[in-house]
Amino acid sequence: MPLVDPEFLAEVKRSPAFNAEACLNCGVCSAVCPLEIELLPRKLFRYVLLGFKDRILANTETIYSCLLCKMCEANCPQEVSIAENVRALRFWINKKVFQL
Ligand code: SF4
Ligand code: SF4
Repeated sequence: MPLVDPEFLAEVKRSPAFNAEACLNCGVCSAVCPLEIELLPRKLFRYVLLGFKDRILANTETIYSCLLCKMCEANCPQEVSIAENVRALRFWINKKVFQL
């Protein structure tokens, strides 16, 4: 079982653009993503919402592989700002991991 960090969402959400809470986990985004990586993008958001910081830290390379093409976003029924959410997560990684 992953460690749960209840503060993780609040840390990532310091960027006002992060709105993954609206995600219904329907899977449309993953189905249209050209990278066909299981993590992108909905599982990524689940991990943040559930406080699974360790899983995010174990997948930074995948998070940086996102093309920010917004194919997912164009098809999201919940109007989740997916590319901006990925950017917010990268911002958090840059600060916490790479200390940029
Ligand atoms: S398409 Fe939107 S609502 Fe559905 S899983 Fe992806 S981000 Fe969540
Ligand atoms: S922005 Fe593009 S590459 Fe990134 S998760 Fe969405 S569809 Fe995939």
